[in-house]
Amino acid sequence: MDEMTKVNSLSASPDEKKDEISLRPLSLNDFWGQKDVVNQLKIFISAANLRQEPLDHVLISGPPGLGKTTLSHIISKEMDVQLHLVSGPLLEKPSNLVGILTSLNEKDILFIDEIHRIPPIVEEYLYSAMEDFSIDIIVDKGPHARSLHLQIPPFTLIGATTRSGLLTSPLRSRFGVIARLDFYKPEELAHIILRSAKILDISIDIDSAMEIARRSRGTARIANRMLRRVRDYSQVHGNGHITIKIAKQAAELLNIDKNGLDELDKAILNALIKKFNGGPVGIKNLAMVIGEEKDTLESVYEPYLIKEGFIKRTPSGRKVTNLGYEALGLTPQMS
Ligand code: ADP
Repeated sequence: MDEMTKVNSLSASPDEKKDEISLRPLSLNDFWGQKDVVNQLKIFISAANLRQEPLDHVLISGPPGLGKTTLSHIISKEMDVQLHLVSGPLLEKPSNLVGILTSLNEKDILFIDEIHRIPPIVEEYLYSAMEDFSIDIIVDKGPHARSLHLQIPPFTLIGATTRSGLLTSPLRSRFGVIARLDFYKPEELAHIILRSAKILDISIDIDSAMEIARRSRGTARIANRMLRRVRDYSQVHGNGHITIKIAKQAAELLNIDKNGLDELDKAILNALIKKFNGGPVGIKNLAMVIGEEKDTLESVYEPYLIKEGFIKRTPSGRKVTNLGYEALGLTPQMS
């Protein structure tokens, strides 16, 4: 993967993980944007703490890099309990889940990332765990097989998903709090950038932060990543201080345009226009032409292109909009 594609990649690269930890806000007051979600969580956390009960199960949905993991860390800190992190696809067998559930302490938080990807057989065990804090497991095989009823400590499940539509309704209905994260506004991202710059000791002003924010596709992780790349550029081509001009030049080098679109976004729009005459086209065909995973298109690229109005979803497939044509400097087709 080249540098350009990495700017939008699904998750943090290994060398970013260290920075991500230091950049992570530690309290809800430090978590910029997502006002509705933050205000609701403040109340639910305070109430649960007053009752000395675990927080109700929380489902956090939204595209990658908006703060799902960060919020879970904050919740565990504000509840003063331990956070256990696991990724949905790694829970291959019921025994994986049972092992984790039985190791929890009272009120602990189990965070399952990409919860829509846990296998159905494992998901069934979650139902009773979430509802009654118990699980029934089968021990032994054949004629000796018997069911064992296990009580587990009252805990909070936080499920994170980039594709909430793929969650089954029995699972979704067991969450008491549904938190939907939205793309950040450029002003919010500018604040996040200024905060990160302070932590990383980077010299930048608000206007230059806005310049980076506008190109960060509404995503906190991308804003932090862009900040680091622009810092690199400013150290080589400037005096280390980030200016609007430096921010623009660095974005050009990374092939990020003024709308925050990178080469893959432009490849999607180009394919729609040139190969499919503007659409509509099914996501599978589109993914094949671009050479990307269908899931990556749906969870990473499409949400932003749709939100910004460059493409739209119709019953017969994806279509490029007039804005989409204009984003590539093309004249929209008359329809
Ligand atoms: P997700 O789990 O949704 O993929 P993360 O929680 O890992 O996203 O967030 C990615 C990075 O973005 C984190 O390291 C954090 O520093 C930053 N971040 C996310 N949301 C915010 C926010 N509201 N304020 C400040 N930084 C944020």
